[in-house]
Amino acid sequence: MKILLGPPCSGKGTIGLGLKERNPELVFLSAGNVLREMARKPEYKFIEEGLSRGEMVATDLICEIMMKKAEEYNYKVILDGFPRNLMQANYIKNWTEKNNIKIEGIFCIQVDEALLIKRTATRNFCNICQKTSCFENFCCNQEMIKRNDDNAEILSKRLAIYNSEISLVLNCLCGPVYYIYNNEDITNTLNKIEKIFNEIDFLN
Ligand code: AMP
Repeated sequence: MKILLGPPCSGKGTIGLGLKERNPELVFLSAGNVLREMARKPEYKFIEEGLSRGEMVATDLICEIMMKKAEEYNYKVILDGFPRNLMQANYIKNWTEKNNIKIEGIFCIQVDEALLIKRTATRNFCNICQKTSCFENFCCNQEMIKRNDDNAEILSKRLAIYNSEISLVLNCLCGPVYYIYNNEDITNTLNKIEKIFNEIDFLN
């Protein structure tokens, strides 16, 4: 099992799509996508409020759902945006210890804050496939929209949460941490991650 972490707008979704294009067999489990998908169902409507405010939602719920989904794929997955706080990290730690699952790599995406602010202002979202892009405005045969949590105020709130939790999360999880800068060309970022993936696969 691998884990992809990073601040909001650091490009985790784009990295996931890029790596999947290169290796279609990879399974990305994005906590944000899972929650947005759930929020469409009437019984999970309450999630929508947390999402639009940029708050962490439903820790118990997301932990159980993410780890059950990971189990379905025999842990050959990349968890994206999960864990995001110490409680979630502890949940994963206990789960992986109990089930003898190895965390092969924790990829921590880093981006200059000024760029995060710029990306938040310009990125669009496809309501159908959940793709985000700062360069495109059309996807799945329709206009992309603005996510209602993509604004400066929510970004600063989400960044504050991320900055206060990330070192606690990294200290809690057992696995090698790889810091990857995603300021520049996405191809460079994908190449760097893919090279580490290959090394991990070679060692296992
Ligand atoms: P993202 O798609 O990663 O930008 O996340 C969008 C929103 O989903 C966040 O602002 C949170 O409201 C929620 N979310 C994403 N991941 C988690 C998580 N691990 N735990 C709780 N809430 C989350």
